[in-house]
Amino acid sequence: SRVVVAVDGTSGSGKSSTCRGVATRLGLRYLDTGAQFRAITWWLLREGVDVHDAEAVAARCDEAPILSGTDPTGPTIQIDGVDVAVAIRSDEVTRNVSPVSTVSAVRARLLELQRGIIDGGGIVVEGRDIGSVVWPQAEIKLYLTADTEARALRRAAEQGGSDVAATAQVLAERDRIDSGRTTAPLVRADGAVHVDTTPYSLEEVIDLVVGLVLE
Ligand code: C5P
Repeated sequence: SRVVVAVDGTSGSGKSSTCRGVATRLGLRYLDTGAQFRAITWWLLREGVDVHDAEAVAARCDEAPILSGTDPTGPTIQIDGVDVAVAIRSDEVTRNVSPVSTVSAVRARLLELQRGIIDGGGIVVEGRDIGSVVWPQAEIKLYLTADTEARALRRAAEQGGSDVAATAQVLAERDRIDSGRTTAPLVRADGAVHVDTTPYSLEEVIDLVVGLVLE
């Protein structure tokens, strides 16, 4: 199948688990574009670049050699030949990824990389601007959200019982930056189906999306 499924939504709305589940069930590839923004952020921090200096970020962002693996049962991300799948989930990267993502040179660089991977289809792609900017021609577009409280509870549970209120605050701050930026803000793309995942289990959301693709 050459279908492209574009899944956008807020942080912690269940995008990753949903997309991996859908891609696995349907035998499609999977691309996590958030991991790419995290990888650039990780690399800039390692290089000692001031990530709040947009000019410095723009000047260096093309140098980071990113490689994304698209197997939904074991997605990988390498930078400079190093597996950074765990490192890019650190609090430091999570706090700094949204400001880095507002820099248009970063978005332009990743846009090219993302389109190269999506080309040919047969893929589920998750991010913030997939249905609006990266691949507006996607056959299926989804916009996933969930109540902040529900998202914080899930995230805190994933992280082994970290503070729910603090987690809610970090999620809300990322949503605020991601929705408020001028380049490729998080929006419901034209034609995207909005699913509020708050009342549903992961399996229920996967079933729903698989149903939409097979329809
Ligand atoms: O999906 P995840 O939460 O890992 O994404 C990390 C950050 O990367 C988001 O908060 C957002 O700032 C940025 N991002 C983006 N556009 C995408 C995917 C992620 O700006 N397509």
